Amino acid sequence: MFRNIVVVLALVFALIHISTGTSLDDDEYDFIVVGSGAGGGPLACRLAEANFKTLLIEAGNDQGENVNTSIPAFQGIVAQDPKVRWDVSPSIPYRSSSPRNRVANQRKQMYVNHYPNLTRAQRDPKYVYSTGPNQEEEYTGLHPPPGAKPKGILYPRAGVLGGCVSHNALIWILPHRSD
Ligand SMILES: Cc1cc2nc3c(=O)[nH]c(=O)nc-3n(C[C@H](O)[C@H](O)[C@H](O)COP(=O)(O)OP(=O)(O)OC[C@H]3O[C@@H](n4cnc5c(N)ncnc54)[C@H](O)[C@@H]3O)c2cc1C
Repeated sequence: MFRNIVVVLALVFALIHISTGTSLDDDEYDFIVVGSGAGGGPLACRLAEANFKTLLIEAGNDQGENVNTSIPAFQGIVAQDPKVRWDVSPSIPYRSSSPRNRVANQRKQMYVNHYPNLTRAQRDPKYVYSTGPNQEEEYTGLHPPPGAKPKGILYPRAGVLGGCVSHNALIWILPHRSD
């Protein structure tokens, strides 16, 4: 639902942009918003609705027709969809301690550390290392081979209209009434 709201807001913004006859050739804006995710999309829309001349810049394209972005149960699939994901690091073959995941593929992804303490972070069985003679392979698990270099926890990001809302898990929690 939140994803739909962001996409609708982005479309409303685009319509306002078209209907006011502004073009990208115009070189002066009241606001320039970079990124159309959960933050930038609604912000740009609200600014445009308040009659500020607003430019929204998005690096990705519109994957709204991509079925992977519209079925919540496909979250695991859409997070790896090359048309949606934002690839940043060199492509390396993937290897996992889990037989189920021991599928070599080409992966360019983002990794994060959930703890400043590396020892604590590496207690997570999802922790990823680069391995091999040229660090060209990946190992995921609690028992990295000698020489493995810590990378972090895989954190796929989306580079499309709507940002990570286009591939997130749609989990939301309402605050308690007394909150
Ligand atoms: C895998 C995953 C699952 C998640 N699951 C949930 C969930 O279930 N529930 C929940 O509430 N939250 C979830 N989140 C978190 C939520 O999606 C993010 O907090 C939210 O999308 C962040 O919004 P944002 O606008 O800060 O950034 P993003 O959504 O990342 O948007 C940034 C946008 O900026 C664009 N961009 C970046 N750099 C540039 C540039 N230089 N020029 C132009 N454009 C650029 C990108 O293409 C992207 O569209 C999840 C996140 C991820 C990654």
